[in-house]
Amino acid sequence: MTPPYDWSTDYRHPTKWDQLFEPLSLPAMLAASVAAKGDAPMLDFMGRHFSYTEVATGAARVARGLQSLGIGKGSRVGLFLPNVPHYVAAYYGALAAGATVVNFSPLYTPHELEAQVEDSGTDTLFTISATALLPTALEVLDGSSLKRLVVGSIAGGLPHAKSVLYRLFKRKEVAPLPADPRVIRFSALTDNDGKPDPVAIDPERDVALIQYTGGTTGTPKGAKLTHQNLTANARQVNGIDPDHDADDRILGVLPFFHVFANTCVLNRTVLNGGMIAMLPRFDAKAALQTITRTRATALPGVPTMYQALLDHPDLAGTDFSSLRVCISGGAPMPAELREKFIAATGASLVEGYGLTESSGVVATNPYDGPVKPGTIGQPIPATHIRLLDKEDPSKDAPAGEPGELAVKGPQIMQGYWNRPDADGDSFTPDGWLRTGDVATIDADGYIRIVDRLKDMIAVGGFKVYPSVIEAHLHEHPAVKEAIVLGVPDAYRGEAPKAFVTLEEGFEVSGEALAAWLNPQLGKHERVTAVEVRDSLPKTMIGKLDRKALRAEEGV
Ligand code: AMP
Repeated sequence: MTPPYDWSTDYRHPTKWDQLFEPLSLPAMLAASVAAKGDAPMLDFMGRHFSYTEVATGAARVARGLQSLGIGKGSRVGLFLPNVPHYVAAYYGALAAGATVVNFSPLYTPHELEAQVEDSGTDTLFTISATALLPTALEVLDGSSLKRLVVGSIAGGLPHAKSVLYRLFKRKEVAPLPADPRVIRFSALTDNDGKPDPVAIDPERDVALIQYTGGTTGTPKGAKLTHQNLTANARQVNGIDPDHDADDRILGVLPFFHVFANTCVLNRTVLNGGMIAMLPRFDAKAALQTITRTRATALPGVPTMYQALLDHPDLAGTDFSSLRVCISGGAPMPAELREKFIAATGASLVEGYGLTESSGVVATNPYDGPVKPGTIGQPIPATHIRLLDKEDPSKDAPAGEPGELAVKGPQIMQGYWNRPDADGDSFTPDGWLRTGDVATIDADGYIRIVDRLKDMIAVGGFKVYPSVIEAHLHEHPAVKEAIVLGVPDAYRGEAPKAFVTLEEGFEVSGEALAAWLNPQLGKHERVTAVEVRDSLPKTMIGKLDRKALRAEEGV
């Protein structure tokens, strides 16, 4: 078998990909781009440019400010932020101080945020004073062992951008901040000489990011990604994108807190010296305007974003001529959507695949070679794959049969934070990461994801875990049993639906249960319906049988 792109070089032996293994920390990667092109724009935040030197100066001030609070190696610093310049300064600043960054979704409820703050031992949390975020962060400050909040202004010193920000957040800034010594303004933290004490970082051992994911079981746990995992993944993706260059302008609409954006937007830009045309969150109209205004060259996104762009009336007036590649990942890209997007924009669109535990990217269709729609392409450089037997993961799947995709490579996490038990489930004894995704591989080495062993539901690119929704349902006195499944959804690909039985003597409709449940859930977790049943399928030993219900429902 000769794949068109021979990435099958063994990463443990000297190969052309040896350069991937030169240890490199994230702050060193930023410093190299500052040295090479300090005055060039690194961020375009709705028209305001921040050069590499400005971002690095901001990060150095964050680092100095954090160090003066006693934060350094062994500390965990959390980011509860949308895509704002503060995110980039806080991310590189916390890392330069020697701390580990913990990423939190800005959509988290107080309950979700608090659980992960406690689990990770985060003592300092960055947020902004938007009403969507600050009240949640303040609630967690009072209810957890969090020591302090650092709060940036919503407009980040960009008065002219305020109205756009207000529109995007659909809420007003909260002011003033509570008079609480634990609440520090971002501007006060960074009011210093910007000269942090140098910290020795070991790229291969020091954990840069703790990134929460449901993994295969759905219980949130923190994937430990080292500096080297993350810088290697950016370099690996460069390997399959021969046309990347320092003039790339990457549209930054994927949320920075997720690994897909961390590698494909943030770290790749810093590695190559390009620019991120960033928006605080995805909005189709603003994204289309930004493509035309900045002459964006690359657009990493999830399928629902491409659908939203395609459906927007401004699509026809958008100038896509600068866009050299769109990269879809996070969930399966429907073939029809891909064709329609290409026909409407003239842009090329390649599908890739990865997961939190792999720092973002495992495989992709070639950017400049034969794309096979419906596949996730081939492993990226220095990435090794195997298909494991679905019943017995100690063996390979029988030849030609689908099997659980397993991965090795420099981008694979060290393991889960404080969860050796979960490591045992996620890695084979000889170190292959089990993805929980079932795949086939064709004669050209292209991988097709055909099923999922894990319970996760991919709502657009967002991951929802049935166990979280089921736990909420069990808090209702009428609910006896509950199973949540992913069902097909025209816009989001999949969406959660609940099936319940009731305790004796209770009478409550599915609509009433959904109306009680949904306000307690995060935006993407909300169920399309709750169906009340007389019984739910059980296994031989009387456990609820999710698999049988799935078969009954044909999903
Ligand atoms: P996360 O850890 O949030 O990045 O989620 C990773 C999971 O998303 C993978 O294990 C897959 O189940 C799913 N996923 C990512 N990309 C794709 C894709 N292109 N096609 C199908 N599933 C995908």
